[in-house]
Amino acid sequence: MDKPVRILLVLAHSETKTGLFNKFVYTSYYPSITLEQLSSITPDQYEVEYVDERYESVDLFWKGTLVGISTLTPNAPHAYLIADAFRKRGKKVVLGGYHPSALPEEAKLHADAVVIGEAEISWPQLLRDFENGELKPFYRAPLVDPEQIPSPRRVPGQYPSIGVVQASRGCPYGCRFCAIQNVEGSRFRARPVRQVIEEIRTIESERFMFADSSLTINSDFTKALFQEMIGLNKKFSCYGNINVLQNDDELLDLARRAGCETWLVGFESINQDAIRHIGKSTNKVQEYASGIKKIRDQGMSIIGLFIFGFDTDTPNIFKATLNAVNTWKLDRAGFAILTPFPGTIVFDDLDIENRIFTRDWAKYNLRNIVYYPKNMSVKQLFSGRNYIAKKFYSLPNCLRRSVQEKNLTFDRFLRRTAGDFLLNRYFQKI
Ligand code: SF4
Repeated sequence: MDKPVRILLVLAHSETKTGLFNKFVYTSYYPSITLEQLSSITPDQYEVEYVDERYESVDLFWKGTLVGISTLTPNAPHAYLIADAFRKRGKKVVLGGYHPSALPEEAKLHADAVVIGEAEISWPQLLRDFENGELKPFYRAPLVDPEQIPSPRRVPGQYPSIGVVQASRGCPYGCRFCAIQNVEGSRFRARPVRQVIEEIRTIESERFMFADSSLTINSDFTKALFQEMIGLNKKFSCYGNINVLQNDDELLDLARRAGCETWLVGFESINQDAIRHIGKSTNKVQEYASGIKKIRDQGMSIIGLFIFGFDTDTPNIFKATLNAVNTWKLDRAGFAILTPFPGTIVFDDLDIENRIFTRDWAKYNLRNIVYYPKNMSVKQLFSGRNYIAKKFYSLPNCLRRSVQEKNLTFDRFLRRTAGDFLLNRYFQKI
């Protein structure tokens, strides 16, 4: 009998770090099931291994035949390096993910084939072509039907034990800075509730996270899902839009009863002009405070996500935002620098205006500045973002937030304090 073809799947990351802080950040804010879903759609006759480089480095001397590498923009230079290294050693390499989907011709310089967009249809086709010696340079397939969004195939114990579930794909909103539509498209597609529930039942850990870009795009679907989750005894966090959460008491009530602990919400800015400019006009700044209060009154936490560097931002935006987030009693917050990812409208706008000063993709990481801001200097934007992050995660602020939380059980206090401590240590060093 022929030996099975060995496939290595890699989630590229330029900085493999096993420290607690990184585990905490990846599992709390950036869940990924890319590798597990790819493994799941790979036909059984192949022998699949996978490496998430956020947690372990890839072995460039791996003995197998085909390497599939998925990468986001800041990790693309590293992904290209390992792709080149594998090809030098005679392996066939396939690149996919957000960055190769936005810039397939660039990715092709480092790969034998590039998968553009979702892989569920392309990947099995690519494997058939590979076996027949007919690998094509590019694979682009239509968006998959929601029933085909796969359950991940996990290797128990391989990576941190938080579960990740994807109940839907696609977002119709098209915010100018967001790259989600490059891969998932603009059509919202929800998996059958029964499938999602079955998957949640298989998660070993008590806690998990939804990897959906937003669980408030179709409230009817989310309510049906949450209704079925009541009684599963799980706790979870998920992304949602504040305008929906603010106005739908039934959704919030069902979320709490289903086990929701935390909503991650893209507020983006406290300036309505900026919100208008980026095309997220469903966000109403004057309703943020009452929306946050509603969520907290239901006993759920809220992590607010903000971006700095919009054309409407001036150097005053940092102090004004700090005052606002402290007054609103946000439980946590993320502060990013506007990053024009390839394939987004922001990228095209800034490029046309000749304001992008580097295409070193490694710097496209939400912490560095790669374009000339309009109403402040590069230095002001960089130090302003670091200022707010340091202040928000100063020890007095962390303590104040801990004691303000309702229904603070001991377990929750411990987890919260540990998380804040890690964030404090990290941000005091920047
Ligand atoms: S930022 Fe959120 S709401 Fe806007 S397009 Fe992206 S996923 Fe959709």
